[in-house]
This record gives sequence, structure tokens and C-alpha cells, in this order.
Amino acid sequence: MRGMSETQTGAPLLPILIYPDSVLRKQARLVTPADADEVRALVPSMFATMYKAPGIGLAANQIGSLLRVIVVDVAPKDQPAPIALINPEIIAKSDELATQEEGCLSIPDQYAEVTRPARVKVRYQDLEGMKKEVEADGLFAACLQHEIDHLNGVLFVDYLSALKRNILLRKLAKALKERQAG
Ligand code: ZN
Repeated sequence: MRGMSETQTGAPLLPILIYPDSVLRKQARLVTPADADEVRALVPSMFATMYKAPGIGLAANQIGSLLRVIVVDVAPKDQPAPIALINPEIIAKSDELATQEEGCLSIPDQYAEVTRPARVKVRYQDLEGMKKEVEADGLFAACLQHEIDHLNGVLFVDYLSALKRNILLRKLAKALKERQAG
């Protein structure tokens, strides 16, 4: 998700894939112990890329990897609270819904209100392979759901009406064309 955080970590930056890149529509696969080295190298670069954008979340699909890895930091930028979630899975969600304005680093400069469960509980593994759970509400809950969606090839525009989605994607196409021309 797009946001205002910015921190320097020194890890190499990765190019962010832009809609309609087909990797954004692919299902990412579970990380296994055999992927440990790759994930350990990937995560610092994902954080660096996310902060630089700047964004508050990034999923591996967005930088061309199909491992189930997301990074998130919804804290104020002077108090960074980075979390890397390996194999994240929503194990509970509230009936209550909440609407937040969302954006996406792969759909630059386009925003829309998206309604999702207000609270979620997510199970994941940390970088050491330890099983963890986190409960989230507010922006954190929306961000986790947005990023986990990416691992399943789902984008926030999929939640919009066909009309709103088409308007947004037309604006994106026009902006990208202007960017190329300019
Ligand atoms: Zn996104």
C-alpha cells in the first residue's frame, strides 16, 4: 500500500512491477526451509524498496518474486515498526467492516475507498521461521489484507464496481503513457 514512511536501510532497491504486469495476477507459493537464504536476502531489499517508494506495505509479487512474503510498516515514519511476514494467512476476521482509502505501489497515484473486515488475525512465520500471530485493526488491518491479497493475485481495484475500476484504470493508463512520453 502507498504511504508516507521513509527510512534508509542500505539494501539494494528492487524495481516495482506496475499494473497490468502478469506477475501481479499470479498466486505466490509457500516459503519452505529451502528458501531461507533467498528470503533473508529478499526481505531487506523489500523494506528498502517500500520505504523509498514511499509505501506502508509491499508483497513479493510486486518485485517479481512468487514467494509468500510481505513487508509492512504502518507506524509514523519517526518511529519505524517494520514487520516481515512469511507465509501470512488470515485466520480470523471481524464481521464488522471498515472503509479506508487505499492505493498501491503497483497502481501508482490512484486511490479508492475499499471496504474490508475491520479487524483480522494473521498467522505467519518470522525470518527465523518462528510461528507468530498478530491481531490488527484500522490501517494495519487494511494493509495486511491488501498485501496478503497480492500473494493471491488480487488487487484493491478488484473490490471496486466495474464502473469505478474502469475509470481508475483508464486514469492509470493515461498517467503511465504521459510518464513514458514525458
Ligand atoms: Zn498493493
